[in-house]
Amino acid sequence: MAPPLQALIDTVAARIIAASEDLTTLDSAIGDADHGLNMKRGFEAVLADKANILAKPLPEALKALGMTLVMKVGGASGPLYGTLFMTLGKELPAEPTLDDLARALSAAVEALKARGKADFNNKTMLDVLGPVAVHLSSGQATFASVRALAAESAQATVPMKAIRGRASFLGERSIGHMDPGSRSSQIIIESVCEVLEGTA
Ligand code: ADP
Ligand code: MG
Repeated sequence: MAPPLQALIDTVAARIIAASEDLTTLDSAIGDADHGLNMKRGFEAVLADKANILAKPLPEALKALGMTLVMKVGGASGPLYGTLFMTLGKELPAEPTLDDLARALSAAVEALKARGKADFNNKTMLDVLGPVAVHLSSGQATFASVRALAAESAQATVPMKAIRGRASFLGERSIGHMDPGSRSSQIIIESVCEVLEGTA
């Protein structure tokens, strides 16, 4: 069955835009206070381009969405979220199964690691996307377990010391704050789960 792309775009964009101030507050603690603004600008552009995106089959739609994020989000997170969605577009068939999604997300995590020269436990969005990709690949995932893992994983970035991104300039002082990109990744994952399980 083709995924409900319109609902996915509407819900993810609405949740990210609604969380913009919170994301910026997180980024003001260990970055430059723009993550929420960057993501809001990106997803407003996605909404503006929605008719064009929805006219395409899923793989091309995801690539177009990724391109829009690269162009509009800016910062470090723009190219990284762009890579995430463009890789999903490259890897997913038009009517994906959960197995397809697990494989595509794992490929996207690898692409993101290469793009950002980062690894797990560096206190970045990879610390949410990575565990979720591994969990999806286990074949044991439910919507509830994926949502819970995304939330736990974002929380688990609090005690980490940043090794990559702007927060790494703070060294030890990056400890004790949630990574903003991990929180935005959690919001995206939570939104996708809720749309797919019909509780959004
Ligand atoms: P900038 O850091 O340029 O101001 P944003 O504030 O929009 O960009 O995004 C910051 C987020 O990007 C971080 O919280 C982190 O999750 C993510 N990030 C930064 N650098 C990297 C990297 N090299 N690899 C993976 N994620 C990264
Ligand atoms: Mg920033």
